[in-house]
Amino acid sequence: MFFQKAIETMPREQIAQLQSHRLVHQARRCFENIPFYRDAFNEKGITPEDIHSIEDIQKLPFTTKQDLRRAYPFKMFGIDRDKVVRIHCSSGTTGIATTVGYTQRDLDDWADCFARVIYAIGGGRHDILQNCFGYGLFTGGLGAHYGGTRAGCVVLPVSVGNTDRQVRLMHDFGTNILCCTPSYALVIADRARAMGYDPVEDFDISMGIMGSEPWSENLRQQIQTSLGIKAADIYGLSEIMGPGVAGECIAQDGLHIAEDHFYAEIVDPKTLAPVPDGHYGELVITTLTKECSPLLRYRTRDITRIIPGQCLCGRTFRRIDRIKGRSDDMLIIRGVNVFPSQIEQVITEMPDVSPFYQIVLTNDGELDRIELQVEPNEDFAFDEVSEIEGLRDKLGAELKKNLGIKVQIRIVEPRTIQRTTGKSHRIIDKRGENL
Ligand SMILES: [Zn+2]
Repeated sequence: MFFQKAIETMPREQIAQLQSHRLVHQARRCFENIPFYRDAFNEKGITPEDIHSIEDIQKLPFTTKQDLRRAYPFKMFGIDRDKVVRIHCSSGTTGIATTVGYTQRDLDDWADCFARVIYAIGGGRHDILQNCFGYGLFTGGLGAHYGGTRAGCVVLPVSVGNTDRQVRLMHDFGTNILCCTPSYALVIADRARAMGYDPVEDFDISMGIMGSEPWSENLRQQIQTSLGIKAADIYGLSEIMGPGVAGECIAQDGLHIAEDHFYAEIVDPKTLAPVPDGHYGELVITTLTKECSPLLRYRTRDITRIIPGQCLCGRTFRRIDRIKGRSDDMLIIRGVNVFPSQIEQVITEMPDVSPFYQIVLTNDGELDRIELQVEPNEDFAFDEVSEIEGLRDKLGAELKKNLGIKVQIRIVEPRTIQRTTGKSHRIIDKRGENL
């Protein structure tokens, strides 16, 4: 199903024309209204007149998170303050928050982008959408809220937490679509069973829209089986807009980028040179229509690839693969590149191990060390030393086979790894600390 069929199935030449037209306009807006970009253009020796089409995008400067931090709070706004109707911030857990402003048109475009994802997995008018993304400065809550409203859904603005109430509402109100992080979907399914429900039999829910953290295909399968739903991956980041920059369709074979609003490039994170379709690299996004906080070639740090070829669903927008990890999260363990999502893929294939885990990183001089903490399922004989050792050996061998490195494994008691309601804290980075 399509929310805006004419746009979502536009022929490729028309998409390129639209993107070209919008890029020319956007480059001018950035140059004229934002001192950071005027300086960056000057430094590269270019003016907006050098940008004639989307083919010229590589002439433009990159933008980084650091640039946004330096511009805190409003120095990257590209429009008069009286046109700004909302401000969001990124979480700021790793430093100063970054600020993103929206005009009414920016918010309308955002709602459209999210609504497209709802339709793309078969949702639409009158579906009850339970929104367990956090409401607030974080873009997840309001992004799903207005996207659901735009799609014509009945929105339940539950926000995060109070899992018992989430489960009861899901049952009593007949929720059809669940919006939350993948790790919280597992918590809800777990809690529902503990409360005596069979989520597949007792609930009307049939769809999930999940994102804001990388998740593996195996985790998706577990969520789908435990709740009896089809779960779509949604991508977005507050710097660019929020959730809805890209989203999966019913084919579940990559996330369609909203290419009328965003232009995506994949570059080598070290050399910044473009990589061919199908190859992994860092996702770089240019916002083509944003009025308040336009960004040119923003380095997302997210690692993905363009999936070559056409999707079965009929959408013509290019697709990115699920996010493999962040370039910052990429671990180099004895010369081997490892993403936490690859570890998750192995864990979720082991029937005796729960999908809750933690990765603790330490370093010994130049060498990164990695310890994986996992918990067995509740029916596992945790008190039997030989069983635990057997499990540890088996998991260690699987990780070695799949990742090519030795991972230290610590098996902890069932149900002792912290459950979270929002983004999970699966990686504890103690590198650089004196231990
Ligand atoms: Zn598709």
